Amino acid sequence: MKKETPMSLAVKNNYRHLAETMFKGLKQRGHEPFYAETAEEALAKVLELIPSGASVGIPGTVTIRELGAPEALAARGNRVVHHWDPSFTPAQRDDARFEEMQCDALLVSSNAITKDGVLVNIDGSGNRVAAMCWSRGDRIFVISMNKVCPDIESAIARVREQATPPNALRLGCKTPCAVTGCHAKGGCISPSSLCRAVLITEQAPTMPAGKKSYVILVGEPLGY
Ligand code: SF4
Repeated sequence: MKKETPMSLAVKNNYRHLAETMFKGLKQRGHEPFYAETAEEALAKVLELIPSGASVGIPGTVTIRELGAPEALAARGNRVVHHWDPSFTPAQRDDARFEEMQCDALLVSSNAITKDGVLVNIDGSGNRVAAMCWSRGDRIFVISMNKVCPDIESAIARVREQATPPNALRLGCKTPCAVTGCHAKGGCISPSSLCRAVLITEQAPTMPAGKKSYVILVGEPLGY
């Protein structure tokens, strides 16, 4: 277990204070916010919010996989739909991408979030940002506090400078950032670009009747 130092304790307490400050903006923007100090607590909240018989769509997200949520949900009997199954053909992957949006719950992270509760995401294939706007069930966002940025401009910069380069490496994409470790000035327009669609969610988009948008902020680093 990692040793607690006065510095790590201060960071932890600061994350909690900041999360509590962010609750007001998140509520005003139509989300129901929660704070989890650890990944373990975040997973417990996810399992509490999703009913045991519900189907769950999980688009491309490292955070949710680091939580161990797909395995925990499947072990509990939830039907988990996700296109990252390595045995899928390209056509099966596309079918799964569409099906993720149709599930009883969508479980995803966000590339960045501003202090006043705006979610910022950049996507290559577009299914993830599409599902954040229009999916059938409840939407649950699990976002670690290291993704909090002062404003939209810095959030977009965070996605391009910090989140996308390791993602490009993971996917084996031949983007400039996969080689240099940083976003190419002016961007890249190429078949392998991961930065094709930018979604700035200023308020939770209108939900299907009775459905909710939840945001779980986590005081431990997760994802990119
Ligand atoms: S625009 Fe291109 S180089 Fe910049 S972060 Fe996106 S994929 Fe990488």
